[in-house]
Order: sequence, then C-alpha cells, then structure tokens
Amino acid sequence: MAQIRDSRSITAEDGTVTVRGWAQDVRNMGGISFLILRDRFGTIQITMPKKKTDPELFGVLTKVPRETVVSVTGEVKASSQTSLGLEIIPSSAEILSEAQVPLPLGVIDKVNAEMDTRLNNRFMDLRKPEVRAVFELKSLMEDSVSEAVRSLGFVQVHTPKISAAGAEGGAELFKVQYFDRPAYLAQSPQLYKQILMSTGLDRIYEIGPAFRAEHSNTNRHVTEFISFDGEMSWIENEEQVMSVIEEIIDHVLASMKEKGKKYLEILGKDIEIPSRPYPVLTYSECLKMVNDNGLSLREGDDLGTEGEKIIGDIMKERGADLYFIAEYPEEAKPFYIMEKDGTPYSFSFDLDYRGQEISSGGQREHRYDRLVSRMKKKGLDPDDFGFYLDAFRYGMPPHGGWGIGIERLLVKMLDLPNIREAILFPRDPSRLSP
Ligand code: ATP
Ligand code: MG
Repeated sequence: MAQIRDSRSITAEDGTVTVRGWAQDVRNMGGISFLILRDRFGTIQITMPKKKTDPELFGVLTKVPRETVVSVTGEVKASSQTSLGLEIIPSSAEILSEAQVPLPLGVIDKVNAEMDTRLNNRFMDLRKPEVRAVFELKSLMEDSVSEAVRSLGFVQVHTPKISAAGAEGGAELFKVQYFDRPAYLAQSPQLYKQILMSTGLDRIYEIGPAFRAEHSNTNRHVTEFISFDGEMSWIENEEQVMSVIEEIIDHVLASMKEKGKKYLEILGKDIEIPSRPYPVLTYSECLKMVNDNGLSLREGDDLGTEGEKIIGDIMKERGADLYFIAEYPEEAKPFYIMEKDGTPYSFSFDLDYRGQEISSGGQREHRYDRLVSRMKKKGLDPDDFGFYLDAFRYGMPPHGGWGIGIERLLVKMLDLPNIREAILFPRDPSRLSP
C-alpha cells in the first residue's frame, strides 16, 4: 500500500504515495496534461505525459470536473517547475465524489464574487486558501488568548446563553420561547461573571457566543459574535484591568505573528505589535478632538462610528494603533459600572484599534446599595435582577473586567474590510442561513 501524504508532508524522496484532494484545475498542453490537486495546506501537481500514462487513467483525470474529490496514487518525482519542487506521475486514481457542473462559485476565479454570493455558497467560498486562512488564524487567536489569560491565573468558565433576564435589559435582546415562558439569548456574560466574583473564582474568562438584536447593517456589527470576556477581583482601579488587557493583546499579537506566519503570507499581511503601554485618552479629550474635526457631539454622547474614526486617524498620525479611551460619563455606561464620585464620569474604558472599538470594560460597582440605586437611575427594576443582586448581599470583593469582540480584534489585526470575513456563517438582520 502506498503511503498517504498531503501537500505539507510530501517530499521528493517519498516514492509511491497516495494524495487526496479537490481537482482544482486541469491543464491540457498537447502531449502532457496536469491536474492540480488542492488540499488543506496547498496544491500538488499530478503530471501526465500522454504517451506514458495509462489511456483510461489519462481519460479520467483529464476530464474530471473541477472541485471533484479524488485520490491519486503515483510516483513522486523532483520538479523544478512546481512550487513544492515535486510532482506525481499517477499510476491509479479513484473519484471519491464528483462535483456537479457548473459550480455555484469559482474557486480560482480572478474576479471576486459579491459578499452575498460568497456567503450563500460559503462551503465553496471557504475552499479558497485566502478565505480559509482567516479561520486558521481565528483558531490560533482563541488559542493564544487562552494561553495569555491562563498564564495570568484566569479560570475558563461557561455561562448560560439562555436566560430569564439580559445584562442590560431592553432592546438588544432576542426573545425565545422557553417551554411555556419567554427567555432571552445572552447579549453578554456580564451578570454571571460578576456573580462568580463573589465565589472565590476570582479571575475568570469565557470565550463564547453573544447575541445582539441590533438592527445595524454595518461592516462591524452582527447579531451573533464571539465575545472574549474576563473578570477579576481585588482590583483597586480600572487601570489594573487595562494593563491585564494590554498584556493579553500583546501576547496574542506576538504569538499570532509567529505561529500564523504561513497564513499571514497567504493573506499578504503582517502584524504590527504596538509598544506598551498603550496611550490613554480621556473621553473629554476625545470629545474635543472630534468636535475640532467637524462633529458636534455633546457631553454624554456616544463617540459613534465617525467619532471613533476621527480619533483613529489622529492616533495613527501619533503612531498608535491601539489606545484606550477612559473616563466615560457615567450616563454613557451601563448600570454595573462604578461612578467616579463627585464627577459626572465613571471608572470605565474602551479599547480602540485603528479607529474602531474592540473592547469595553471598567471597574464594577460592588457595593449593594450603590448598585441598586444605579439600576434605578438607569430605569431598571431591581426586582428583575434578584438572582444577580443576591450575590452582592453576602460579601462581594471589588472587581472589574472587560469584553472583547474576537472578530473585531481579528478584523482590525488583519485589516479586513468586513466583520463577516471573520465569521464562517454570519448572522445579521437579513441573514439567517446558511
Ligand atoms: P458598538 O458601540 O461598537 O456597537 P458596544 O459598545 O455596543 O459596541 P459592548 O456592549 O461594549 O459593545 O460589547 C463589548 C464588545 O463586544 C465590543 O467592544 C465589540 O468588540 C463586541 N461587539 C459588541 N457588539 C457587537 C456586534 N453587534 N457585532 C460584533 N461585535 C460586537
Ligand atoms: Mg462598548
């Protein structure tokens, strides 16, 4: 039996091997024909000199429809004409699954199909190495995130994604039928990760789905994304959370630059690792920056897409890709954020990456009475949050944390045009399938 090889493991000295893959292309050049076989790691050239190849085999392999899955056995030979430096002279082949004609989407077409066509035929779109490379990198990103937080003593947890109440209540919740009563899909693990701070599991993280019923059709919003959340106890200020984030991002960028080299090359990208500490702007400074540049935002307003972009451009000129925006007005932040007493501000921050928010975080309000009054101030009914508030009534340490959108981080890191490029099967207001 011939040994099984793929485009990553094969060498010119392997002798007789079997390779499997998709028939990417057939080139007939008169006396000689080539079949380009693609697998996860690259392509292998099957070379068929007409006179020296069994006529039946020649007939099958030169007429195989594009994207058919085949298994080819043959002799490996060194070749200076191919990128791998070798080719296979086939002695037998098996068609494992023939592709229908025409294809819904070309895999090696030079012209790029529309995003919608690509997403409708995602299985085919993902056969393109540059599309798949993003997901190899996403997998690496989740690995390196875990590596970084574990080394800082964080424990991985999973919190429920179906619940009776949402983190911030209201409009962004998807309602689902839970037997005979209504329930909601989690928009964030916020309430649960805070509850855990009262248990002694004082550094936790979660990488999991978050659902937002947002009617935003933008290149950075989807209705289901992967959120990387962390929460840590015994902090004295939000700056301690910010430096943990910095350490994590720094590790992630460095580790991906090294381990993701091959995929970055396929994408023609490089990762720049900003020096630490990342600059910290205050919300008030940012407000001034954007208003000096044509916007007219008022104290308490969200900086918005345009505002974030203006700040991104200014920070780029200052040589900063990643920067914090701290000290948001308390009215712009959720109830669980701690107020900065005697000021309209709060112990909160966002982390922005090249003009786009990728994370929000801060120090939380751990004092029961203050938390309840903040809830009321935000128009929420504390009775709806009994299960959460209970955890604050019997000893809750000071704590803080963050949520980072994994896809936003990846998209900014790779400078991709749309968050949908970083999600296998994206969900947005108009897309629920595939
Ligand atoms: P934005 O203002 O950009 O809509 P947000 O402030 O509403 O974001 P948060 O509630 O702070 O978002 O969520 C934490 C992080 O989760 C964000 O910084 C972002 O990285 C990510 N995120 C939030 N909403 C979405 C979404 N709809 N699609 C993708 N990622 C999201
Ligand atoms: Mg935010």
